[in-house]
Amino acid sequence: MLAYLIGPIALVVILLLMKFNLIVREPVWLWVGVFIAVPLTSATCDRLYHRRPTTQRLHLRVAGSAAGVTTVIYLSGWGPVLVLAFAFLALENISALGSRAWRVTAAWSLVGIGAGQLAIGEHWAPSVLPISRANTLALMSAFILLFVIRMAGVVMEQKEKAESSMRLSEDRFRSLIQNSSDATIVITEEGDFSYVSPVILQLLGFEPEELIGIRAVEIVHPEDRQHVRDRFGSDVAATLELSYLQQFRMLKKDGGYCNVEAVITDQRGRPSIGGYVANVRDITERKEFEALLAHQALHDSLTGLANRQLTLDRAEQMLLRAQRNDDPVALCFIDLDNFKDTNDSLGHEAGDKLLCAVAERFTAMLRSADTVGRLGGDEFVILAEGVSLDDGPMLVAERIREALHEPFQLVGYEGLPINVTASVGIATGTRVSAQELLRDADVALYQAKAVGKDCCVLFEPEMQSAAVDRLALKSNLYSALANDQFFLVYQPIFDLQTMRVRGVEALLRWQHPTRGVIAPAEFIPVLEENGSILDVGRWVLDRACAQAAHWHRMGHRLGLSVNVSMRQLASISDLVADVRHALAQSRLSPGSLTLEVTESVLMRDADATVAHLEELKAVGVLIAIDDFGSGQSSLTYLHRFPIDGLKLDRSFVTGIDGSCDSAALLHTMVELGRTLGLSTVAEGIETCAQLDSLRAEGCGYGQGFIFARPQSPEDIEALLARAPARLPQPAGITD
Ligand code: C2E
Ligand code: MG
Ligand code: MG
Repeated sequence: MLAYLIGPIALVVILLLMKFNLIVREPVWLWVGVFIAVPLTSATCDRLYHRRPTTQRLHLRVAGSAAGVTTVIYLSGWGPVLVLAFAFLALENISALGSRAWRVTAAWSLVGIGAGQLAIGEHWAPSVLPISRANTLALMSAFILLFVIRMAGVVMEQKEKAESSMRLSEDRFRSLIQNSSDATIVITEEGDFSYVSPVILQLLGFEPEELIGIRAVEIVHPEDRQHVRDRFGSDVAATLELSYLQQFRMLKKDGGYCNVEAVITDQRGRPSIGGYVANVRDITERKEFEALLAHQALHDSLTGLANRQLTLDRAEQMLLRAQRNDDPVALCFIDLDNFKDTNDSLGHEAGDKLLCAVAERFTAMLRSADTVGRLGGDEFVILAEGVSLDDGPMLVAERIREALHEPFQLVGYEGLPINVTASVGIATGTRVSAQELLRDADVALYQAKAVGKDCCVLFEPEMQSAAVDRLALKSNLYSALANDQFFLVYQPIFDLQTMRVRGVEALLRWQHPTRGVIAPAEFIPVLEENGSILDVGRWVLDRACAQAAHWHRMGHRLGLSVNVSMRQLASISDLVADVRHALAQSRLSPGSLTLEVTESVLMRDADATVAHLEELKAVGVLIAIDDFGSGQSSLTYLHRFPIDGLKLDRSFVTGIDGSCDSAALLHTMVELGRTLGLSTVAEGIETCAQLDSLRAEGCGYGQGFIFARPQSPEDIEALLARAPARLPQPAGITD
């Protein structure tokens, strides 16, 4: 407004001054013309300059206004006195055009003064002062003017520098905030968003504008709100500039939540911010990873069940509760009976699937408060407390076994239902530790296995001493071979048609220094486990071959059967070397030696087995499948194995007496042997009825207590010395 009025006001003032003869008289039209021409020129030059601010146009603009000032002050006759009017012009130019204008303004002001003085000197313009005084005054004023313009320029330069560095740092911070992967949020004292950086779009899916003005807690997970509010209320308010880290969940636009970590700083004291600043980072992935790690540390990777550590932990917690309520906790230690067979015959993949399926059934059967854990292998633990125990721990165990009752049908093994049974050891208690409870249940489990598997046994304190004995047995076994504590017994194998002894099976025994003779079922698994079965197996081969060769020399041409374990078959080159060595040492003909391999071992890796058996066959020995029918043999493989005989599992022979199914199965087995051209030996014949049936089926050979128990070489010799007529005859045998 002032800019528009300044011209007319100046014109009026000049006309008044002229009226009172204070300035030189000039025609009014001249002044009016000047006051029209000067603003018009200035405005035109200004526009030109702003349209394209080049140096030439800057000069034009400054020169235009300097010409205007020169005209006005020199027309008044007081030119040199009013030189400071150029200072106002300079200040206006510098503040409008920046520091770059000071030199141009100074130059054009001097040109204006020079031109004005020339006009006075030449009497083109009036002068109130004498010319010489006017020149002196103009010179002095020019110096002062220069100084003022220079000062204004310096001040402007400094201001511009400060502004530019401020702009630069603002720019830098803005770009840092806007491009940072962390979102920056400013929250007012009232708790509303006042600034949200653009990265919030990636973090939560909201545009920043959508959040401005809304309550910050509204996008915090309801469960975390109180926690976040508490921190805001107390700590932050109390200490200015205090910053702290907080983790909570934030709402996403799609309705989900993401885990964030926020560094919150109280910046309410800073006028430029005036609130809390939160630097928010998405930690969802980190949280998920942490959760995964925690889960992995406490869970079994195969089945997802609690692992040993978590199971024991839960047992401890249950026991603590139990002590308060005097409600006992039951720990059921479960071991699958025939799991090894599945693993051996169908492979580890099937074994793993079976374990998962078993885990699922256990989990489905229990209440959520109970715990199912897997300690490793086929060992599971179920922890039950309170109401689960109402019916008594044995009923819990029965439920466990019932859960397994239905055969398992594994994906990829369709048409091959797998029957699983379990032995369960149970321990209950309140005032024991979890470790003790587990140990007691383990002892009871051992007992369950010992009494024939597929049953439940409740722990009793007397069982503990038996467990200690077993441990001692294990340690004694290490030195048994070196101490010459192993010996062999031989069980005759009879030709069921002629009833003559056709051969013998060598069976291992351990003469324990204090416990007497121990059966192989008790120690062979331990030898397998610690690897010493390889040495013991070698010893058995040497000893048995030497014995058989001795009998051959005596004129008894008996076949010799020797059992070979899984470990031995796995290290096939050693086994072949051992067999060759035993045969060479004893000079027994290879055709007299039959190696018995248990069915489940053969099926473990059928292709590798074929190769292994072929290597053995190359030595010239015979091979028989032991315990045939007990494992999960695939008949498709049977014809691929280079075998010579089948030894029918005792369970078929025992079953003949009672079940029609077993009799039918036995018939099929014998037929199968006949079709494949294999010799068939029935194991475990105990009764006349069994013997009659086997003979009637046309089974070639038999072995069992009805004929003879495994016995010493001397007893075998005595048996052989007897006339065949004196050997047990089916018709004359009583059970
Ligand atoms: P196997 O090879 O199937 O041996 C037959 C088992 O049945 C023997 O048990 C034998 O005493 C028993 N038996 C024979 N006739 C009857 C009967 O009429 N009724 C009953 N109830 N049982 C009968 P043993 O000697 O306790 O051997 C058990 C298993 O230990 C053997 O089963 C064999 O797998 C393994 N074994 C024995 N000696 C050795 C050995 O030197 N090396 C290896 N690797 N394993 C061996
Ligand atoms: Mg055998
Ligand atoms: Mg057998």
